[in-house]
Amino acid sequence: MIKKNSINNEKIVDLISIVKSFDHVKAVNNVSLGINEGEFFSLLGPSGCGKTTLLRVIAGFEKPENGNVFINGTNVNSVAPNNRPTNMVFQNYAIFPHLNVSENVGYGLRNTNLSKDQILKKIDGALKLVGLKGYNKRASSALSGGQRQRVALARALILKPRVLLLDEPLSALDKNLREQMQFELRQLQKSVGITFILVTHDQTEALTMSDRVGVMFNGKVDQVATPEQIYNKPETKMVAAFIGSMNFFETKCLEKSSKTVTVFHKDLGNVKLLKNNIFGVESTKLTIGIRPENLKIISDNLKIQSKSFTAKIVEKSFMGDTMLYSIKLNQSENNNTYNISISDIKNSPNPNIGDKISVTFEEADVVAYYEE
Ligand code: ADP
Ligand code: MG
Repeated sequence: MIKKNSINNEKIVDLISIVKSFDHVKAVNNVSLGINEGEFFSLLGPSGCGKTTLLRVIAGFEKPENGNVFINGTNVNSVAPNNRPTNMVFQNYAIFPHLNVSENVGYGLRNTNLSKDQILKKIDGALKLVGLKGYNKRASSALSGGQRQRVALARALILKPRVLLLDEPLSALDKNLREQMQFELRQLQKSVGITFILVTHDQTEALTMSDRVGVMFNGKVDQVATPEQIYNKPETKMVAAFIGSMNFFETKCLEKSSKTVTVFHKDLGNVKLLKNNIFGVESTKLTIGIRPENLKIISDNLKIQSKSFTAKIVEKSFMGDTMLYSIKLNQSENNNTYNISISDIKNSPNPNIGDKISVTFEEADVVAYYEE
């Protein structure tokens, strides 16, 4: 008998110290991660960071050389994929081209003892869920990319898994359809209440759809948090740079108090950081990060916030909903440029390339990372 694990029962999936290598590559390098029942969870990271491998470990297609996989409190290390309460939707919609829509969707039920009527009813229900009501007899070859992915979804959902695993299910779709499907997938997850674990390299997709996101680099999960937390308080420099855009400044530590650390930068002067916004192992050098939208150009309407500095505009790009300025700092010898993004274009100053500007920011918005 498989032993129940009493500690991890509240988590539907609990990964403990998972390691999976291919030859000399540690595709997954000691990952521990808990996913809650009913959650929409995304694994986000650049190509090759180990997302698919981790998903396949959960599904049982890959056997980790170290660690334990618990699903619904049960250690499933030696349970075959088809006996796990999981189901996977693959990146390249793996539906059978020689079967029609109904045959594809009902495929997993063909060897059950359900009656033909019961199966047809379930197929209709699953097709309705994914917005393909009435498509039963349609040939797979006559489906668009989006419709094929819906069929793949219906085929997975009809088996009523506790956990649905989705490997970049929308990456082959064009932008508009992808955005529509993101919304629908989220609605679908809410209505069926099943735990979804989505793998994606698309940060917008992960942030807009998920209850929580795990950000992966080089086989490791750097941070697991809500989209807001990931964006506002990225806990490593890699997460900060990967999610949205971030201006980094190298600084030296001047003094520490119980709640703050004051650092010095040639152009920014002294910056007082909140200790809650500082990550890493304490040292005397810190890289601080300020998001482009947290840098504001000073004008008659906008007074200095907690800090200010001067800069020169070297580039200006109209992005539709935002104006993006590239700036250079006055004192720094390096040739770095930094970004300011303005979303309220109408009510903001509109300086030109070459103009000198004063820039302000709130110290409370600054995140920081100790350097080794
Ligand atoms: P992601 O899904 O994040 O793009 P993968 O999990 O597919 O990343 O791959 C992680 C690393 O493991 C990569 O370096 C990849 O080349 C390697 N890898 C994945 N699957 C295999 C395999 N079957 N054989 C050899 N190397 C693999
Ligand atoms: Mg992948």
